[in-house]
This record gives sequence, structure tokens and C-alpha cells, in this order.
Amino acid sequence: MTKTEKIVRMYDKYVMNTYKRVPLCLDRAKGSIVWDIDGNKYLDLFPGWAVSGTGHCHPAVVKAVQSQAKKLMHVSNNYYSEAQALLAKTIIENSFDGKVFFGNSGAEANEAAVKLARRYGHPTGRYEVITMTKSFHGRTLAMITATGQDKVKLGFEPLPAGFVHVPFGDIEAVREAVNEKTIAVMLEPVQCEGGINIPRPEYMKALRQLCDEKDLVLIFDEVQTGMGRSGRMFAFQVFGVVPDVMTLAKALGGGLPIGAAVARGKFQDVLTPGTHASTFGGSPIVCAAALAVFDSIKKERLLANANRMGAYLRKRLESLKAKYKLIKEIRNMALIVGVELSIKGEDVYKECLKEGLLINCTQDTVLRIMPPITVTKEEIDKAVSILDKVLGKF
Ligand SMILES: *Cc1c(COP(=O)(O)O)cnc(C)c1O
Repeated sequence: MTKTEKIVRMYDKYVMNTYKRVPLCLDRAKGSIVWDIDGNKYLDLFPGWAVSGTGHCHPAVVKAVQSQAKKLMHVSNNYYSEAQALLAKTIIENSFDGKVFFGNSGAEANEAAVKLARRYGHPTGRYEVITMTKSFHGRTLAMITATGQDKVKLGFEPLPAGFVHVPFGDIEAVREAVNEKTIAVMLEPVQCEGGINIPRPEYMKALRQLCDEKDLVLIFDEVQTGMGRSGRMFAFQVFGVVPDVMTLAKALGGGLPIGAAVARGKFQDVLTPGTHASTFGGSPIVCAAALAVFDSIKKERLLANANRMGAYLRKRLESLKAKYKLIKEIRNMALIVGVELSIKGEDVYKECLKEGLLINCTQDTVLRIMPPITVTKEEIDKAVSILDKVLGKF
């Protein structure tokens, strides 16, 4: 029995079976490379569902975590810590004037955003949140309700009230859905889980205008698009449309669990003492990690790298498209990349795994490639040559 097989057996016996897993037990990693427990090496262009956005075990993050761990790991949010103050300041300096609430995950960040919106709407009796079909906002009860995909909701009814879905990219549908109960519009600036769907800038601008007109909270879920992957620090900056509330998680902590809801202007002080909390939220250790992520993005000019490598990957994928009819479309915003196939992506993904390349497949037919923003040209070449070999088999 291999070491991997032993671990898989323990999972079968002791871990709830809530994920579709492949038999790969990862042991260590560096940058875009991971090794399994039996010593096999893989190129990881989907690091932890876009969590390790600056690469696995980024040296600056490791160092920050190690030195913070020796000093202080957690404090109650009834006290202050320097790391949380500095991280909130850094997030604001990189986004818009406002204030930050810290939690531990994307779902929690979105819960904070929706609670903020509801609290804001309460005096006028407004609570309904408009979200988009094919969206993904997390797995808590409220967030599976917010998510515009039936598959996450089935069997969990009754669901919380107050969410309606409209088709993504359709401004008229949003206008029609607004009524006297509406308080917010929530969407991902680029739908990632939904198949890499990039809206037109006019749509985003029209949403902003509508929310201003109707006094609605515009919430951008940047849990997956944030932290440089779009070519800017946050995807809203690509569109030039500033939300009222932005949520972050995934790559923010460089591998550690953190979530954040960032609110601006009249929304920044809506949540007051006693209205919302998180025991672990914004602990010194995760904040130190996130600060190191911001610092590395700046020092290593990773936004420029994301743009360069995004364009390069796109070019290389276009050449595969010219060669293989089964590639229908390539969609990307820098290093948010989707390759739509005319066949099931799962088989392609599994063949890639056998060849030592880790990517993802979403919405059945879309290969999702989310390289860390530290990715190099050589790594992209390697990945494309594996994809070339794999696609040749179909
Ligand atoms: C992953 C994701 C979430 C949920 O984040 P968790 O940390 O798993 O709770 C929410 N929104 C988007 C856009 C995501 O990609």
C-alpha cells in the first residue's frame, strides 16, 4: 500500500465525505510546485481553489507567520492588536476609503456584508438582496440561499427568506427585480465558479448607477477575484466601478484562513458593538500573513506579472484552440482563466493530473486555470505542453 492509499483509508473511515476527492495526498509545496506524500511532483495551476494566490508557502508569508507565532497568535477582539490595525489600513489604502470587518472565510465575509445591508435597510423595512444566477457565495445557509445555483440548495430547505436571483449581465432584469423591499445587489465582478463569466463594463456601471438611484448597497464578492488575480489588486478596479461593500478571503491570507468585509462611506459604521462578531476574526497571526501577501505583491511587482502572464497564457491557449476544435472559447481577465470545451472537462482534468498538472473544471465543461500570480513563463509553457498532449487524446 502506498502512503497515499493509507491516508485515503483513514479519510474513508474518519472524515465526512463532503468533497469529490481525487487520490492525491499533498505533503509539501513551494510556489507553483507541490509534492505528494509518495514523492511525486505536480505543477499546481489551481492552488487551493485560488487560496495560494502568491504561490504555496511564499517565503515572506512563512517568515511573517513564524515570527508572529512566537509572539502572539490570537487575541480577543475586545482588545487591540497592531497586525489587525495595519492590515485594515493596508486593505483600505489599496481599495477605497472605508472600514474593515474581519472573519475567517469567504462565506463569513459575505454574511457580514448581507447583515450590514439588512441592518442598513431595517429602519425602512427593506431586506431583500438581489443576486445572480450561476453565482457562488459560500456554503452557510444564507450563502447557499444567495448562491444562484440549485445544486447547493437542494435538501436544505426551508432556506432563509430575502434573496432573489436574476440572470448575470442583464441590467434590465435587475431593474425589474428591484421593489420596495430591496436593499442590496450582490455579485462577483467575474463569476469564477459559474464558469469564468466576465460582464461588460457598461453593466457594472449601470449597476452602480441603479444602486445610487435606489439607495441600494452594491456588494462585490471579490473572494476569488481579489488580491491581484485580475491584474489589479481588486477586480472592481479593472471595471472602474467602486462597490459599497467588498468581500475578500481566499488569497488574502496567503494560505491562512481569513475573510474580510470592506465597507465605505455611509456604510462603514452601520455595524456597531454587539451587532456582529467573530471569535477568531482578524487574529494577529492571519493578519501578519495577509500583510506579507500585500507586501510581496508590491515588492515583487506581481500585478504586472499577473497581467504579463495572463496575456501570455491566453496567447498560448489560443494556439491550442487553433489546433483543437473541442476548445470552444477562452475567457480570461489576467490570471482568471476559463477554457470552455465541447466535451466534459472532468476527463481532461483527470488526464492532466496523471501528467502532473493540477487545474480545475467547473460547470461541467469549463477548465478553470487560476495560476498563482507568481507564475513564470516556463511554468505556463510546461502546463500548455501537458494540455496539448492531453487534448490530443480526446
Ligand atoms: C470560495 C468562494 C466563497 C466561499 O468562501 P469560503 O471561504 O469557502 O467560505 C464565496 N464567494 C466566492 C466568489 C468564492 O469563490
